[in-house]
Amino acid sequence: MSGNGIGDDKGNAEDTAEDMAGDAHDAEHDGARMIDVPLDDPTGAGPATGHRKGRIRIVHLYPREMSIYGDRGNTRALAMRARRHGYDAEVHEHHPGGTLPEGIHLVVGGGGQDSGQDRVREDLERIGPMLTALADDGTPMLMICGMYQLFGHDFRTTSGRVIPGLGILDVTTKGNDVRMIGPVLLRTDLGDIVGYENHSGSTERGSGQAPLGILGYGKGNNGKDGTEGAVRDHVYGSYLHGPVLPANPAFIDRLLGVALDRVSGKGFEPAEIDDTLADQARRRQVDRLLTAAAKGREV
Ligand code: GLN
Repeated sequence: MSGNGIGDDKGNAEDTAEDMAGDAHDAEHDGARMIDVPLDDPTGAGPATGHRKGRIRIVHLYPREMSIYGDRGNTRALAMRARRHGYDAEVHEHHPGGTLPEGIHLVVGGGGQDSGQDRVREDLERIGPMLTALADDGTPMLMICGMYQLFGHDFRTTSGRVIPGLGILDVTTKGNDVRMIGPVLLRTDLGDIVGYENHSGSTERGSGQAPLGILGYGKGNNGKDGTEGAVRDHVYGSYLHGPVLPANPAFIDRLLGVALDRVSGKGFEPAEIDDTLADQARRRQVDRLLTAAAKGREV
């Protein structure tokens, strides 16, 4: 359960890991099922469990340059959960200069250093029209931190360089000398979401741009307006690392639901999945952050 966005805050990672082990132990005694699909491929790709309902094709953008603070885990969580729902999962890792495959059902991108964002800018401009067409067509996408910024209009770094974005989300970002770092609690229409942020960029939403959620704890888009992330159609931008998805299965199913709905033409047919461990871990972090917020303390 390590690396799921709930134990990565400053200073007490060891305590948290121990506490998490305790939670996992309790959950085992509650009869929670542990991992039930093999992780033969690090991307999480592989065959469905049980009756096969179809095949999902996930594209992970720039896993080398843009996947920090565990963001690769989002792709793995999506692929493995799709398999648990009964769908074969294929993961295509897109690198600069590569060709996007046909028939994309879901697109994922992660965070990165300003230098990583610089390294992908040309390729992103090249494949931008295809990504925009997919977004317009309702393809679900999850873009974290650095890629969230590049799905907006642009990112002006602390050194004054302007890295142009795709403008799929109506946001603009400006780097600050003081980084925004720490755990985050977010209230959304999917329920509470927890994760971890670490960014210099301060993001402003355009007037009609909806946020992903309202902050219960953390800095979010800019540390001022109390919002985090941005959503347009099925494109989600967020600062939450961790990775964010494993601790927030409702978020995974929101993305998968739209993608899998298109896979078989029969609508999304979910399997029953035991989320006891993820739910316990998230609830524990929610309580911890709400307590800190109520006491005006930093965790
Ligand atoms: N380089 C960007 C920033 O500092 C994105 C950071 C990240 O992806 N964690 O704001």
